[in-house]
Amino acid sequence: MASHVSLIDVMSAELAKLPGVGKKTAHRLAYHIISMPKEDVKRLSDVLWEGRQTIRLCDVCGNYTQDEKCAVCLDLDRDASAICVVKDPRDVAAMERIHDYRGLYHVLHGVLSPLDNIGPNDIDIKGLLKRLADGAVQEVIVATNPDIEGEATASYLARLIKPMRVKVTRIAHGVPVGSDLEYADEVTLSKALEGRREI
Ligand SMILES: [Zn+2]
Repeated sequence: MASHVSLIDVMSAELAKLPGVGKKTAHRLAYHIISMPKEDVKRLSDVLWEGRQTIRLCDVCGNYTQDEKCAVCLDLDRDASAICVVKDPRDVAAMERIHDYRGLYHVLHGVLSPLDNIGPNDIDIKGLLKRLADGAVQEVIVATNPDIEGEATASYLARLIKPMRVKVTRIAHGVPVGSDLEYADEVTLSKALEGRREI
């Protein structure tokens, strides 16, 4: 690296690539990291690297896991007759916080969005349909966000799944329109789940 490039500026620039971290915050973090004990910085960078290297997608549901299957899929006490469909792994974490839900999950890793050229083959709908094939699942709860893409995805899934004689429900609009599931508080999410309706 050329010596005229300030390493602290490089650190700031990298930190500013993180979501929610503006330039000022990135700068502050960079200065803070330099003042931290070296072993703490080493631990931080090691754990970030290890997490990125080790965490993968669950073979069954697409949630994040360190093993072939995630903790939810491995838990035999979960109700295998219900699958809650979410956009990404952060939504699984949000749903798990409410403790009311005892079924399984399926992570789509996106939602249908024609404007962004995201069609049915770009998200994991195929994996979901495969899980419904043996008839054990009786209800699919679509918990995509209550925005245009989330609603379109829910309708699309309902059209596809209902002929398989599986009940398709949509979580209630307790989650404010346009907001993300992951930011909804536990009471709101719990009510949204309880008030789900067949679509
Ligand atoms: Zn899983």
